[in-house]
Amino acid sequence: MGRLVVVSNRVAAAEDAARAGGLSVALRAALKAGPAMWFGWSGERVTEYSGALKTHRIDDIDVVTLDLEDADFEEYYNGYANATLWPLFHSRTDLADYTRSFEQGYARVNRRFAEALAPLLRPDDLVWVHDYHLIPLGRELRRLGVVGSIGFFLHIPWPAPQLFTTLPQHADLADAMFAYDLVGFQTAACVDAFADYVTREARGRREGELLAAFGRSTLARAFPIGIDAPQFLRLARSKAAERAWDRMAAHGVFRSLIVGVDRLDYSKGLPERLLGFEQFLKAHPDMVRKVLYLQIAPSSREGVEAYQALRAQVLALAGRINATWAEMDHAPMLCVNRNYERAELAGIYRAARVGLVTPLRDGMNLVAKEYVAAQDPDDPGVLILSRFAGAAEQMTDAMIVNPYCAEELAEAIGAALEMPRRERVRRWMRLLEGVERCDVRGWRDDFVAALTVARRRRAPEAERPVRAELPGADLPKETAFSPPGDPPKLARDRGSAIVAPEWRRLGRG
Ligand code: ADP
Repeated sequence: MGRLVVVSNRVAAAEDAARAGGLSVALRAALKAGPAMWFGWSGERVTEYSGALKTHRIDDIDVVTLDLEDADFEEYYNGYANATLWPLFHSRTDLADYTRSFEQGYARVNRRFAEALAPLLRPDDLVWVHDYHLIPLGRELRRLGVVGSIGFFLHIPWPAPQLFTTLPQHADLADAMFAYDLVGFQTAACVDAFADYVTREARGRREGELLAAFGRSTLARAFPIGIDAPQFLRLARSKAAERAWDRMAAHGVFRSLIVGVDRLDYSKGLPERLLGFEQFLKAHPDMVRKVLYLQIAPSSREGVEAYQALRAQVLALAGRINATWAEMDHAPMLCVNRNYERAELAGIYRAARVGLVTPLRDGMNLVAKEYVAAQDPDDPGVLILSRFAGAAEQMTDAMIVNPYCAEELAEAIGAALEMPRRERVRRWMRLLEGVERCDVRGWRDDFVAALTVARRRRAPEAERPVRAELPGADLPKETAFSPPGDPPKLARDRGSAIVAPEWRRLGRG
C-alpha cells in the first residue's frame, strides 16, 4: 500500500497539538488513516540554507522537515505567501505587495522543497500538496522526473479573474496548477473562479471537472474541508470544556453571551463585526446590560504592517464601545488576545448563545463548524455566518449575513438572541448533521480517492515533459478530454513513479 505524502508549509510540532491552527489540525487528522509522511518547513531559520533534513515521528507519521534561510523567510513566507498571495486571494488587492524579489524567493523555496522531497518519494506514493505557499511545487517535482500522483488543495479562496490578473505572474502561477493530476478547492464558487480564469484569460477549455490550458489538463473539484467532528464532540463534553463553560456562565449570569473566535486577520472582518455589535447596542439600549460579547482574537503575523494596523483598529473600536456603554459593574464586550486549548474553546462555544463568524472572505472557516459541534443539544446557540465564508455554501441553516452592512449584522444579532428554542434546535440539528457528514475524514477520503482516479486518467500525459512556454496552447481534444475510464496499461504504472534522468543530470547542484 502506497503512502500518503502530505506537503505543507508548516508541519505542526507534537507539542503544539492542543493549540494547532485549522490547517494543521485538519492535516493531522487526515494523516491518521494509514502509512504517511508529512513534509514541510521546520519553522526554524538558518543564515545559510543547507538542505539538511530532520526526521521524527508524530504518532505513526514520519515527519520530515527542513530549515529555511533568513532570505527565504522574508521573500517566500513574509513576502510572496503572506504579503502577496494571501491578500490577493482574499480579494484585498489594496494590501497586496507585488515586489519582484518576493516571487523569486517563492520560486526558490518551492524548488528547494522539491529537490529535498523528490528523492524520498516511492513509486506508489500519493503526494498531496497543500495551500498557497506551495502552488509551484508539483511542477518542480515533475521537472525532477516525478510522474506519480500529485494533487493540490487550496485552503484559501481562489480570487475572481479580474483580481487574479493583477498579479504580474498570474499566467505562471496558473500554469503551475496544471502540473497536478487533481486540484481541489474549498467551494464550487472557487472552482468556477479558477475555471473562469482558465477559459477567459488562458484561452483554455472546461468540460465539467476537466480543465485544459497551457498544454496540459487537470481535474478541478470542490472538497469542502471539515473538522474532526467526533473528536470535537468529545472535547465539548470533557472536564476542561466544562470548566471553561462554568467560567463563562459565571460571567454571563443574566446575560446572553456572544462569541467570536478568529486569528487577528483582516480577512476575518473584525472591525466590521465590532461596528455591527455597536450598531446593535445603539438600536437596543435596553440590551446593553443583557449581553456580553467576547471576541477572542490572538495576534497573528505581527511582523506584517497591515496586521499591526488592524490590531490598533480593533482595539480602538473595542475601547470606543466600552467607553460608550460600560458602567462600574459592567462592560458590554471583552477582547482577548490569547490562545486557548481546544477543549477550553469548545466550552466557550457551548456557553455562547450566539456564535459570530463574519469574515469578509474565508476559504472555509472551521470555527463555524466547531461552534456547531460544541453546542448543547437541548439548548443550542445560533450561528451567524458571513455569506463570504466558504462554509456558507454548506451551512445554509445558519443565519447568513452580509458582514459589510452594520445594520444587517445588528438585526441578525437581535434576531438570534430572540430566536425561540424550537427554531434554534431545528437549525442546529441540520447544521450538526452536515458537520458530522462532511468531516475531515470524509474530506481526506474523497480527495485521495479522486486523486487515485485522476492519476489514471492522466497516465499518458504525465509521460510528457512540462512545457516551459506560456500561456495558451490547448491539448489536442482527444488527449485533454479522454474519459476517465480504466488506465491504459503502461510500464510506468507497474514500475517506478520516480524516473529521474533529468534529476540525476541536474546533479543537485
Ligand atoms: P484560519 O485557518 O484562517 O485561521 P479557521 O476558522 O478555518 O481559520 O481555523 C482556525 C482554527 O484555529 C480553528 O480550529 C480554531 O479553533 C483555532 N483557533 C482560532 N483562535 C484560537 C484561539 N484563540 N485559541 C485556540 N485556537 C484557536
